[in-house]
Parts: sequence; C-alpha cells; structure tokens
Amino acid sequence: MKSFLKRVIFLSRNKSRYKKNFLGEMEILEKNGYAVTLKEYGSFFELCHQIFAIDHCYYHAHDFLAMALGTVLRIFRKYIFIKDYHQLLLPPIISNTADRKINFYEQPETWGVSLAERDENRFEKIVELVPEGVKNILDIGCGTGELVLRLQRKMKSRTHIVEVDRSATALSKCNADVGKISADINALPFKDKTFDLVICAEVLEHLSTTAMRDAINKIKKISSKYVIIGVPNNENLAFSMYKCYECGNKFHINLHKRSFKLGKMKKLFFPELNLKKYVFGGAERVYYNNILLWVKQNIAGVWLRKINTLCPFCGAQQKFQGLKERNAISWRCDTWNKRIRQRTGSQQSHIMALYAKD
Ligand SMILES: [Zn+2]
Repeated sequence: MKSFLKRVIFLSRNKSRYKKNFLGEMEILEKNGYAVTLKEYGSFFELCHQIFAIDHCYYHAHDFLAMALGTVLRIFRKYIFIKDYHQLLLPPIISNTADRKINFYEQPETWGVSLAERDENRFEKIVELVPEGVKNILDIGCGTGELVLRLQRKMKSRTHIVEVDRSATALSKCNADVGKISADINALPFKDKTFDLVICAEVLEHLSTTAMRDAINKIKKISSKYVIIGVPNNENLAFSMYKCYECGNKFHINLHKRSFKLGKMKKLFFPELNLKKYVFGGAERVYYNNILLWVKQNIAGVWLRKINTLCPFCGAQQKFQGLKERNAISWRCDTWNKRIRQRTGSQQSHIMALYAKD
C-alpha cells in the first residue's frame, strides 16, 4: 500500500515525464495486442489519478477495471456512458480562431494525400465506362485532376476536357493541360448541351437534398448525350461519424450526407437519361454491425478520427497525433464484428454508372 501511494505521488509530480512514458507503453500495447502488461500497470494508476483529479467528466483507461471505475464515477455525476474516449488520452490541438474561416474543401490537407489503391481502381473503372466518339468532356468535382490525366491517356488528343471544382486549392494542384474553372456544382457557367459527356464522381454524396436535385437537373441540361456518375455504394454513414472535440457535434469525416444503392442509381436521371451500364469498384466496403457500432461509439466512446478534421459546426480544426484509440469495450466490438463479417458477403465500396439519352 505504501509503495502504491508513493507511486501515485511520484506520478502526479512528474506528469509531463510520465505522459511520454505512457505513450511509449501504448505503442508497445499496440504491437503486442491487447494484453495488460506490467508496464501498463503504472499508467493505470496515473489514469485513476487523472479520473479523480481532472474536472472533465470523461475518462481514459484501457482495461476493464478502469472502465468500470470511470462508469461508477460517471453514474455519480449522472452520466452513464463515456462521451469521447480520446479526450483525456491525447487532447487534440485545436487551431486558433483565424484558421476557422478555412473551408473543409480548401484545406491543403484535404488534397495533399497520395492516391489510395481504391481510388486508382475507381478512376480506371470510370475511364472504361467512357463511350466511344465523345468529343468534349466536363469533369465536375475534378479535385487534383487525377481522373483527367487518365482520361487524356485514353482519349485522342482532340478531345476537349474541362475541369470544374469548387475548391481553388484543389485546382491549383492540378497539372493537367485542360480548361479549369472554379465553380460550385449549383452555379455551373455552361449553356445547355455543351458537353457530350458530363462526369460527376464523388460529388453527389456531399450535397444536401435540394442541392443534389438542382445539380441533377443542371447536369441533365448541359449534357448532350452521356453522363457518368460515381458514388460510394451502400455506405454506412454512421461508421465514419466523427465527434467534434470542441462543440460535441457529430458529422461524417468526409462530409458525406447520403449513401447510394443500385436501385436509387437507376432512377437518378429518369426519365431524361437512362442507366446503360454500371460497375462496382474501389475497395471492399467496410462492414460494421449497427448494434456493435452503437456500443462502440456511445458506450466505449470511440469515434472514427481523421487528421486535420474541420468541424462544419464550429470550424475547429482538430489535429490528432495518430494514436489508434482502443479500449476494452471497443476492442471487443471489433472482434465480434470480425466474426459477423466473415459470415456476411463482401461488397465493393463504390458504384460507377453510365447514363445516356435515348
Ligand atoms: Zn465543432
């Protein structure tokens, strides 16, 4: 008992030194799987100490005992579940108020990432869908122009391509030698039937219901013959939910507002354009059982994180230090989910469809 008290006093006096140590141990835990090591024992006391010392009603720990302790404490404080597991473990750095004017789509971090394999696959599938004899193409939501580079490789040099993106930051990173216009999908400066083919990949899922309806009407008008749409296939939006560290609001990490299924895709441009061809692509769709997901988020307090997430509600930019969050409950949810997943069939993450005017 004496040595335990000594340790608690030592830890409370050497907090900064201890934090470093604690992170090191977390890394060891990640490598060795979920085992309570002797080293971790020390961090557990530190956590218990923090639970009582810090005014926050959230807590951090990575074993059942500490979780139980925290829950009891929370019940005393009239909170039953953990709200956010990350908050005491590694408080995110929140940007200053000047940065809050930055829009999600204008953040350099949104566009700086190298292409994932699933995006390569997605672009290839779109290029394959492009019909023969197309002379001019409009790419709405072109991003950094990765699709255009692939289109140029396939099409003859005479094909005229125009890129549109609402993000000036994305356009500035685009190296392709084509027309570039910075505009919102709902304010496209084109006359009716300007383009043989309009491509709109990974855009519709970001729009609100009215914005999507207007966008679809506009695309119908500016396309003289074909439209290609790419969207996530049957996405479970709840899986990618993020919780703002500052205001507590929940939002999708990529700001997706809707998910699509094949049935919905068939009716998207009806009756002016009809679905001619569709392909699934991207990567395997991440499966997470809805009940387990609810437990993981609302009881274990573990939410999906993405570096440099910008909260659309309060504008706080949240920089995380890359530590994988996992506690006893969320880990169990993950394992059970894996077992259920083995029994369910796999699905592709994206759907790409070609529409044509009859
Ligand atoms: Zn917020």
